[in-house]
Amino acid sequence: MNIVFRLWKESLHLLYPVRCPICDRPVFVVFGRWEYPICPGCREAVDYVREPACKKCGKPLSDIRAEFCGDCLRQSHLYDQGKALWLYKGYVKQSIYRLKYGNRREYGISYGQELVRVYGDWIRKKEIQLIIPIPLHKKRLRQRGFNQAEVIAKEIGRQMKIPVRKDLLIRCVHTRPQKELNDKERKNNLKKAFKIAPNNVQLNQILLVDDIYTTGSTMDRAAGVLKEAGASQVCFVSVSIGRGY
Ligand SMILES: [Zn+2]
Ligand SMILES: [Zn+2]
Repeated sequence: MNIVFRLWKESLHLLYPVRCPICDRPVFVVFGRWEYPICPGCREAVDYVREPACKKCGKPLSDIRAEFCGDCLRQSHLYDQGKALWLYKGYVKQSIYRLKYGNRREYGISYGQELVRVYGDWIRKKEIQLIIPIPLHKKRLRQRGFNQAEVIAKEIGRQMKIPVRKDLLIRCVHTRPQKELNDKERKNNLKKAFKIAPNNVQLNQILLVDDIYTTGSTMDRAAGVLKEAGASQVCFVSVSIGRGY
């Protein structure tokens, strides 16, 4: 056999397909390298959150002189600061839908890698000691089979060598969708949303991880209970975010 042909044939065994989270088409990567890339064309097709962005929640701003978005000017948050990768619309919205309901768990690894590429330095600067994925209620976890936030968090932790704990924060009630509730019910609904499991972990600078950030109420409640339990700083990264204006 021709040596060139043999090398070519062997290299085929090394290549291995993963799916691009945006177009769902297979992308070939070298086996063992643990790469879950996004095609160059797809990077162009999605809206990355760029500066100027809100200094609190990370939402993109239309006014370059503004520091905070309308939401963050109107209400204070219990978390310290957050960053988001993409706007929650179009391809990104469809991608997150497929991840949750179309058994595309591997997308979570792509999201995690992309979050590290864009916000790795920021995470390092925050001196994060522990990463916590926003938990699902156990009933929902049973339905879905996995927690998408956990897949993303694990990849960030693996790349950045920061421990990830999925057992510290517990979603204790099966919350009804916020839009079905009035104001008072809404507050109560969230107040009971999380608790901390008994632990002997020193909670200091924590990074919460989720796939979608909308009003920030979930992040606030999670940050609130973590701070009550002694956390000095709670930041977050989210794969996607709505607009703040
Ligand atoms: Zn693609
Ligand atoms: Zn904001």
